[in-house]
Amino acid sequence: MILKTPICTFDAKTGILCNMCENKLAAGQITNSDVEGSIVLTKLSLKNPEIDKMTLIASKEIDNEVILFFKSSDFRTIRSNTKLIDLIRQGFKKNIWLVESDSNDRRFLENLFYPIRIDNFNFIWLPDGHKLTRVVIDKKINSIEKITLERIKKISLSLKKIELVVDTE
Ligand SMILES: [Zn+2]
Repeated sequence: MILKTPICTFDAKTGILCNMCENKLAAGQITNSDVEGSIVLTKLSLKNPEIDKMTLIASKEIDNEVILFFKSSDFRTIRSNTKLIDLIRQGFKKNIWLVESDSNDRRFLENLFYPIRIDNFNFIWLPDGHKLTRVVIDKKINSIEKITLERIKKISLSLKKIELVVDTE
């Protein structure tokens, strides 16, 4: 088994895109962060047989935060293995977020909030027809979490167009 990424294995190993991947990039089917994420993860996969079995669906970067979309089974493998998480974090040298590629908005938010639990999830429609997504989390928001919350809001908005409102019980 060999790690699958948004670009060819050979490209990810050499860091040079073939014509096909170059065209995908030009057409906007993949982004520079997909390319960078593929290269970094491929480097890690050479040292780690578990990563080598995985599929990276996409890698997005927002304000220096890297969001890695994995196949659900791979996501679960990584989440249950702190050594793997540390290895990936060190490889990217950036703050990383792990999410499942085939998930709905609620699951996407649960992935971002983890280990904080989402107790409730609903929508708020404003009089102008604007939709907000409201989540209730099981923790009080302290100063550190506020930074995390701002990041989660930014990521949700740019990747999923989710306008997030966060409440605590
Ligand atoms: Zn290629």
